[in-house]
Amino acid sequence: MSALAAANLGITVHIYTPEKNSPASKVSAHTIVADYTDHKALSVFAKGVDAITYEFENIPVETVNFLKQKKPVFPDEKLLEVSQDRIIEKSFLNEIGIETTRWKRFENKQSALDAFEEWNANAVILKTTRFGYDGKGQIKLFKSENINEAIKHLNGEIIIEEMVDFSYEISIICARDVKKNIITYGPMLNEHKDHILHTTTVPAGISSEIAKQADKIIKNIAQNIDLKGVLTLELFVTKDGKLLANEIAPRTHNSGHWSMDACLYSQFDNHIRSVCDLTVIEPQRHSDAIMLNLIGDDILKVEKQMKKKGAYLHNYGKTEIRKGRKMGHINFLSPKTSPTTSE
Ligand code: AMP
Repeated sequence: MSALAAANLGITVHIYTPEKNSPASKVSAHTIVADYTDHKALSVFAKGVDAITYEFENIPVETVNFLKQKKPVFPDEKLLEVSQDRIIEKSFLNEIGIETTRWKRFENKQSALDAFEEWNANAVILKTTRFGYDGKGQIKLFKSENINEAIKHLNGEIIIEEMVDFSYEISIICARDVKKNIITYGPMLNEHKDHILHTTTVPAGISSEIAKQADKIIKNIAQNIDLKGVLTLELFVTKDGKLLANEIAPRTHNSGHWSMDACLYSQFDNHIRSVCDLTVIEPQRHSDAIMLNLIGDDILKVEKQMKKKGAYLHNYGKTEIRKGRKMGHINFLSPKTSPTTSE
């Protein structure tokens, strides 16, 4: 989707990916299929381009540092580092005054017992600090459970998080260019099914006070890391209206896919603009939207959905359907009702 946005600006796109037949390759001029640690292939790739960006947070920081010596890479490694590790992420957010769920590093069984005690909780969430997504690498742990047995399948370092009885989940996306102009998308209301994003609704139907706070929080992060590129922030809104930052992504986000059809400038347009030394442009949302993810074999049953008024399908062209795999999305558009803070 970023490659398509780049093509609209007359930019030739080269893809570097370890995956054969990737959706991006199908719509780009050149592709190199190689491992992220293959310095020889990375050098060839860097030689062929003017600027480099990425859309996946599990690229090794070392890869970005290697490429940076050859061509500009955005966003820079600070944001990548922060978003790769839940403990670094939460420490960074708390240091710059952004509230998160209460958390603790899992050192041993006693850390979990302390968490139950200190937070007066019956259950906590344990997450691997790295490589978790869509609910993978996390478990709910009850006070009565055998801790060692419960963590058997969590690999590497673990973080203990307080279980938030939130009212709803939102996200907000911002793009910032080299001249420090900044624009935002949202906030959006997100609903998950089986830990996977199911629908995103814009406008989110939340109070302007909460929307303003989310806007302030993401701009604080962007300025703090001197962002050049796009970043996304996922937040919990508690029953008493408090915002708790959950997760940062150093990239465009699934919860921003509605912007492709409901805005004049999508998150992908502004991603490409911000990393190619162009000025970011206000999204200018012209429609309300509900984005529906097509997970696994949902993609085989889209025709019925397409009959609904205002439906626009984006099929990613992935060659293999797998359970839980995001295969595409549909944006359902309707006339614009109310503005959000970014407009
Ligand atoms: P994450 O991988 O951290 O984004 O978590 C995936 C989903 O699990 C979130 O979108 C929430 O719905 C739920 N979740 C994660 N952490 C917590 C928490 N500390 N309290 C309650 N729900 C959570």
